Amino acid sequence: VFAPPVNRLIGELAKLPGIGQRTAQRLAFHLLSVPDEEALPLADAIREVKEKVGQCEVCFNLAVETTCRICQDERREASVICVVEQPGDVIPIERTNEFRGRYHVLGGALSPIDGVDPEDLHIKELLERVSGSEERSRGAGPASTAAQTIREVVIATNATTTGEATALYLADAVRERSPDVAVTRLASGLPVGSDLEYADEVTLGNALRGRHAL
Ligand SMILES: [Zn+2]
Repeated sequence: VFAPPVNRLIGELAKLPGIGQRTAQRLAFHLLSVPDEEALPLADAIREVKEKVGQCEVCFNLAVETTCRICQDERREASVICVVEQPGDVIPIERTNEFRGRYHVLGGALSPIDGVDPEDLHIKELLERVSGSEERSRGAGPASTAAQTIREVVIATNATTTGEATALYLADAVRERSPDVAVTRLASGLPVGSDLEYADEVTLGNALRGRHAL
């Protein structure tokens, strides 16, 4: 019905999560109707994030440099790691102001039916981070390295079937490799079946404060 470039824009917009065909059309016609200087910054912004934003090589959060701003922040406690499914899950936890540790982003949740197995997530890297910190603290290194020991892994995967399965898998895996490290889970109170990113700050803050051993 529309000219090919318009169809192309509608098609690309419709691929975005939560955007149906009808909304894609409305957005496309909006972009067509506004001046260039209102529409083109969107294209530039998409290009810029794709060119500049990558993964933190320590925690797999989004990062502009080799490590993310949280890993670079010396004031953050290095002894507690909060494990989340996606980079977007870091934001709601940060908003609670209840957590001062570091993060580890898995890149999803275990789901054998969908073909997501442990080796598809950043689980190996998490176990290496945790056990590596123990070895460093046991070694004869300078006293300051002892401060880097990870004491607790807080599992903040979603309160969904796959999120819960991932939490149990991680608890076993961490315990097996690093028995001295506490593994905790956010307290219940988060709506069952819900994603972290939709939790409100108060609920999530309570869940963090009330976390329990797994
Ligand atoms: Zn990081």
